[in-house]
Amino acid sequence: MENEIRGVIFDWAGTTVDFGCFAPLKVFTEIFKNKGIDITIEEARAPMGMLKIDHVRAILSTPRISQLWSEKFGRGYSEGDVEELYSDFEPSLMKILPNYTDILDGILPLCKELRERGIKIGSTTGYTKEMMKVVAAGAAKQGYAPDCLVTAEDVGCGRPHPFMIYRNMQNLGIYPPKCIIKVGDTVSDIKEGTNAGVWSVGVIIGSSEMGLTRDEYSQLTDEQKMVLCRKITKTYFDAGADYVINNMAELPALIDEINKGQVPYLLLTPGPLTTTKTVKQAMLRDWCTWDSDYNNIIQKLRADLVSLATANSQNYTAVLMQGSGTFSVESVIGTAVPNNGKLLVLTNGAYGDRIASIAETLKIQTIVQDSGETSLPDLSELEKILIASPDITHVAVVHCETTTGMLNDIEAIGKIVKEFKKIFIVDAMSSFGGIPMDIFNLKIDYLISSSNKCIQGVPGFGFAIANKLELEKCKGNARSLSLDLYDQWKGMENGNGKWRYTSPTHVVKAFCQALKELEVEGGVEARFRRYTDNQKTLAEGMTNLKFMPLLEPHMQSPIITSFCYPKGNNFTFLEFYNFIKDKGYVIYPGKISKAETFRIGNIGNVHKNDILGLLAAIEDFLNKQ
Ligand SMILES: *Cc1c(COP(=O)(O)O)cnc(C)c1O
Repeated sequence: MENEIRGVIFDWAGTTVDFGCFAPLKVFTEIFKNKGIDITIEEARAPMGMLKIDHVRAILSTPRISQLWSEKFGRGYSEGDVEELYSDFEPSLMKILPNYTDILDGILPLCKELRERGIKIGSTTGYTKEMMKVVAAGAAKQGYAPDCLVTAEDVGCGRPHPFMIYRNMQNLGIYPPKCIIKVGDTVSDIKEGTNAGVWSVGVIIGSSEMGLTRDEYSQLTDEQKMVLCRKITKTYFDAGADYVINNMAELPALIDEINKGQVPYLLLTPGPLTTTKTVKQAMLRDWCTWDSDYNNIIQKLRADLVSLATANSQNYTAVLMQGSGTFSVESVIGTAVPNNGKLLVLTNGAYGDRIASIAETLKIQTIVQDSGETSLPDLSELEKILIASPDITHVAVVHCETTTGMLNDIEAIGKIVKEFKKIFIVDAMSSFGGIPMDIFNLKIDYLISSSNKCIQGVPGFGFAIANKLELEKCKGNARSLSLDLYDQWKGMENGNGKWRYTSPTHVVKAFCQALKELEVEGGVEARFRRYTDNQKTLAEGMTNLKFMPLLEPHMQSPIITSFCYPKGNNFTFLEFYNFIKDKGYVIYPGKISKAETFRIGNIGNVHKNDILGLLAAIEDFLNKQ
């Protein structure tokens, strides 16, 4: 609400009146002609939008015309010449001005709509007060009268200075600048808007930039119109415009778009998730990947990740890998399991299934123990499989199965895996950083996670934290060049933090900031408490609203919760989703085959009050039914 658009400030000639902005143009060419100097239409138009005396000076200062002037008069132009020319300009313009006040198409319905929406209408101009008396009176006769009109005389100077806009803001009582749109049809209009810090919008049809009459414009072919629009669009954007519209009819939709963008929704999803502003800000500079400053950052980041994973850090290493989390899973599976190896995958959801499909794609011998989407793996079954197939070399499992929110008991599983002396691989993508764990105690050889889950960075890379002795044995195992975890590791070790291929520099910087913020929050323990609190608040609140969690509490992780569709009524997810999205929260559809569910995440920069806000939005949804 606070940041929504509450004011639109229009330019006059070429924007709201005088299609093509012709009135001043004719007079400018005339006054120079009277001095024996022929200026082109383009030269006369270029400074359009400025205060008219500034406009005269700007024409004189263009190199070709300065030159002509010097040749003609044997000296450069003086300020006296500017004033003299202007004294010719003013009366001539005043004479013809009443004929150039016709309002542009769509202005009246637009103003009606803006007023109905409570949006105030201001205006600025390159005309003087005297000229505006004529123009405003002409426009008013046709029904167009903005709430406020400011000329350069009111504030002491014209465009591209921002002061006419500021005076509008003051008179209309609207601030901050991000609540205001300035619409104009010249480069000096656009600059006035950007200098004021408001949304600066250029309009194309009828503009001075276009410089055509209504008839001329309507006679263009579609192709010619398109080429012209493209050219003008570029001119506006080069001048700093935030948006460009074809005509005024597009303004209401643009206002909606700006309003939506200013109220971003909270992501209650399994990642990418809501990050802090400071994490996003960490991306606002570019880094050279060759430079040691940057590579030192990588080395520290790798060491920090190992420390986060275990107190016993000397036996482990962290390898970063470009891509989303799945790329890192594929990199570990494809590098850790040798040609003659055999992988057992425990699965109870889509991410466990994905590990199995990766192995299958890589033609790795694989056994799958599937316990179904809503049950924990049967540990005696696991033992049986390991006894029956002694050629199994590796066992992989997902820690938090994000499909449902199920938390697998990796401690109990790891114990068995190690009794049988197998290599233990854990996809802790959605839990690492959010649930306390020590990979040494848990006997994990490879733990995989990514930048955009519980560490609360942005998406762009994943990482494996690996047992060095095991990784050392993996040279030449990889079934892919770019996803070779061993090679990536050696590359980072030997190159002192250098990635083999392009490093996601901005994502890395955001991640470093996210790690700092994790520490400030109080480390993984504190984050775990916050997520747990979020989950408890959510589950209790939802149960009160008759949305039942899919999983039994002892299986439920603090990361994400699946809820069943309510029984009996005609619930549709999309309607539910859109309703709460409009209130500023987005959730996730379900991902299981067994039951109709949706999911709500608790991770990211999300706090108890956010969960309470979401619950209130959901209650509103139920009440309106
Ligand atoms: C997010 C996630 C992944 C990786 O998914 P990407 O879309 O590739 O980032 C893998 N496993 C689990 C458990 C996850 O939650």
